[in-house]
Amino acid sequence: MSAGSVKNARPAGRSDVFHRFPRNDMATAAGGEGPYIFDTSGKRYIDGSSGAAVSSLGHGHPRIAEAMKRQIDHITFAHTSFFTSEPAEELASLLTDLAPGDLSKVYFTSGGSESVEAALKLARQYYVEKGETSRHRIISRAQSYHGNTLGALAAGGNLWRREAYTPLLLETIQTPAVYPYREKQDSETDEAYGRRVADELEAAILREGPENVMCFIVETVAGATIGTVPPPPGYFARIREICDKYGVLLILDEVMCGMGRTGTLFAFEQENIAADIVTLAKGLGAGYASIGATITTTKIYDTIVSGSGFFQHGHTYTGHPLACATALEAQKLIAEEDLLSNVRKQAANLEAALQSRFGQHPNVGDIRGRGLFQSLEFVSDRESKAPLDPSLKFASKLKAAGLAEGLLCYPMGGVIDGRSGDHAMLAPPFIVNESHIEEIVDKLDRAIDAALGAAR
Ligand code: PLP
Repeated sequence: MSAGSVKNARPAGRSDVFHRFPRNDMATAAGGEGPYIFDTSGKRYIDGSSGAAVSSLGHGHPRIAEAMKRQIDHITFAHTSFFTSEPAEELASLLTDLAPGDLSKVYFTSGGSESVEAALKLARQYYVEKGETSRHRIISRAQSYHGNTLGALAAGGNLWRREAYTPLLLETIQTPAVYPYREKQDSETDEAYGRRVADELEAAILREGPENVMCFIVETVAGATIGTVPPPPGYFARIREICDKYGVLLILDEVMCGMGRTGTLFAFEQENIAADIVTLAKGLGAGYASIGATITTTKIYDTIVSGSGFFQHGHTYTGHPLACATALEAQKLIAEEDLLSNVRKQAANLEAALQSRFGQHPNVGDIRGRGLFQSLEFVSDRESKAPLDPSLKFASKLKAAGLAEGLLCYPMGGVIDGRSGDHAMLAPPFIVNESHIEEIVDKLDRAIDAALGAAR
């Protein structure tokens, strides 16, 4: 579709879409190529955050378009009460072949929140089938995000997102966030901090009574609320130990950090642990299809199959053949073009560029992340780590300044739970090269200046 025809489809200034962040100057996306998106005016934006860590292959990839067309010529939808499909079977096999440990069964969803809902219900049904019916408590971390549907929102520890809906939410328990920049004591090693914060899980399980606890759900590398935060060394080994000791299921939410973003396909490969359930979305379909997945072990699957015989759950679009074919092609492409090597190479470039450009910036307190999943945390004072005044609304000013520069970065912001400041996440597509990284960092630099100017 040409930019002209999009422009003429409706009168200028009219929008009947319920936009989450209503603005009357929102640009209309009209096309994309590689790491770039074009709007209807022809303006070009570099997608420095892959939307929200989604478009790992960039935009307009011809191989994905071909794969989608091929699948449309066969079948786009066949309800899973009646049929399986070749792309769903092939994608599930690819995922279970590549997943570490005994993750052997894939339940497909349409996105991240749905993957988390399925994970929570799977955990509960597992214990019901085992006769451990008192196990229902969900433990997660403060300042975590697991999605916006009611179950996923209840599991998350982000007060800002939960606040209005509190009466509708399941009661869940939060252990402290992993947030070394603000929470690690100066006298502590990274390992000691990781141990201390992991031990909070054991304390929470003991407070609730292990017989009541169903699962611990956690982002392997945190992303959506306090910027990208990798786990401290030894943290997940200790978490696994605690979960095993009390028979609590470990659900790793890799909706944002999974499918290659941190340099390995699954982020938890770098932690050397096994998971009971893993949730995926975003990078699975790389933005070309609305698809997620909840992967689990033979033990959990068999318990359900040999118990009641079926998972008491389901959505119309589970295992959607067109979505599965699209995700399958995306994942084949990542493997065939060895894009994870490029993620690791460009991650090193991005980290170095961010450090050299912003390492001494008076308003950048921390630069952190793993792989092509990096964040800056903004402060008003580097010494005291005091956040910027939330009334300045720096994150939204940075988003606007980025767009004006032709950059998508993903600012998150304002003081969350009174304990952090504004952030910007950079998560460029896996296909970027050195000059794309340079363009992202140059534009970010100018956008930060403009936003600080506007914020003062
Ligand atoms: N889990 C995590 C870790 C996320 O970052 C997100 C979204 O940002 C979700 C779940 C929810 O995914 P979705 O927006 O696809 O429902």
